[in-house]
Amino acid sequence: MQNYDVIVVGAGYAGLTAARTLVDAGKKVLVLEARDRVGGRVFTQHYPEGFYLDLGGAWVGPTQDKFYDLIRESGISTFKTYAEGKSTLLYKGKLKHYKGLIPPLPVGALLSLDFAIKKMNKLSAGINLEKPWLSPDAAKYDAMTLSSWMDKQMSFDTAKVMFKMAAEAIWAADPSEISFLHALFYTKSGRNLDTLMNVENGAQEERISGGAQGPALKLAERIKENIRLNAVVTHVDQSGEQVIVKGPDFEFKASKIIIALPPHLTGKISYLPAMPANREQLVQRVPMGTVTKTFAVYDKPFWREKGLNGLCATNEGFTTVTFDNSPPDGSKGILMGFVLANQSKAFIELDHEVRKAEILRSFSSFYGEEALNPIRYVDHNWSQEAFSGGCYAGFMPTGVWTSLGESLRKPVGNIHWAGTETSDIWNGYIEGAIRSGERAAGEITGA
Ligand SMILES: Cc1cc2nc3c(=O)[nH]c(=O)nc-3n(C[C@H](O)[C@H](O)[C@H](O)COP(=O)(O)OP(=O)(O)OC[C@H]3O[C@@H](n4cnc5c(N)ncnc54)[C@H](O)[C@@H]3O)c2cc1C
Repeated sequence: MQNYDVIVVGAGYAGLTAARTLVDAGKKVLVLEARDRVGGRVFTQHYPEGFYLDLGGAWVGPTQDKFYDLIRESGISTFKTYAEGKSTLLYKGKLKHYKGLIPPLPVGALLSLDFAIKKMNKLSAGINLEKPWLSPDAAKYDAMTLSSWMDKQMSFDTAKVMFKMAAEAIWAADPSEISFLHALFYTKSGRNLDTLMNVENGAQEERISGGAQGPALKLAERIKENIRLNAVVTHVDQSGEQVIVKGPDFEFKASKIIIALPPHLTGKISYLPAMPANREQLVQRVPMGTVTKTFAVYDKPFWREKGLNGLCATNEGFTTVTFDNSPPDGSKGILMGFVLANQSKAFIELDHEVRKAEILRSFSSFYGEEALNPIRYVDHNWSQEAFSGGCYAGFMPTGVWTSLGESLRKPVGNIHWAGTETSDIWNGYIEGAIRSGERAAGEITGA
């Protein structure tokens, strides 16, 4: 049986970063990855027509410094998300195009919405990111959902509808599922709500040339001798002096192990001895978000000729928000629509042809009849991927942070935990994954 200093489970951005940091520190490292590829929730699919689609994580924005460092180090460039021209709102059957950030809504609803966003930013500023359960009023906020806070905060239905659309786009979950404490934590983790929502100066500001999986592929190339693909870890035994890591056709030993998976997937591994009670309970309570990314590819970005930027928000139909995902040279026109939370649960029950017809019908109602005839339609649902179970990330329902939060990052014997869900900065994002990998490696090297 081969012996390593550290075995890393999972070759997403967290696992790859942890492994690279440990290899640089002179450790003998093995990465075990269940899929036949690296990148995890970031997957760039290339098509014979000469374009690519980021089926998972795609954007990078200001303050995501570790991800920018990795992109640059990989010799890869970024480009601005297309946002010139007017945005679109389809609400109560009426289509409106508008410039800037403020949607054309009645003044009362707009003021109520603006006040709620500011209030949430203000409350989130008080959150203890390392230990959210120690934040002021943590118990009170953790006992309510984001939805119940929205109900109390906003008296205008229109404001609530707009806030819900934004919340679904940020968390890929219904506000009734999310602890308000978690919503505050996540908001501060990514700076503030404006940063999370926006293209310009926000988390959607830039895309990565060639696709967001590129930097992960380059990182994997650097440490390729250390990575074993198609290796599903099923058992971790730390009852002896060394940790034994097993899968269907392998068994390796190491002094330490980093498990770089979303929390719920760490619960699918069998441990000897069994996990401590609170860790076991925690992983039963961190569900993944629910999202389907849909794409329609056209010969050209025809909406740009109409002065539209491809950004649309609506609560009608399956897709809640759309973005222009065309290549930087505009050689193809690509519309991406997020189908989120409960809409995604209903959407995935439909046949492919019905899903396609629904999405194209929505796109045509936003941008015109040309949208009905794409050269390709693609959708990708992350809940049916066994080694993700959903996306964008795991989130905390009510009561979890304050009762079990301490077990999220706390090592168990020689097992250390990574993955974006364990990050206090940019939790849920690629940036958070990278930071978590560095942090877990540092726990082992003492750096
Ligand atoms: C649709 C979508 C859109 C998103 N948009 C963005 C965005 O625009 N910007 C952004 O920053 N983030 C975005 N995200 C989130 C981002 O992709 C994730 O936060 C990040 O990729 C998580 O990385 P990770 O390494 O923590 O986990 P993962 O990427 O999930 O890596 C875990 C790895 O472990 C492997 N694995 C699982 N079980 C086992 C096992 N038993 N044995 C061995 N290996 C196993 C998996 O195959 C996977 O490769 C998005 C995600 C999705 C799905």
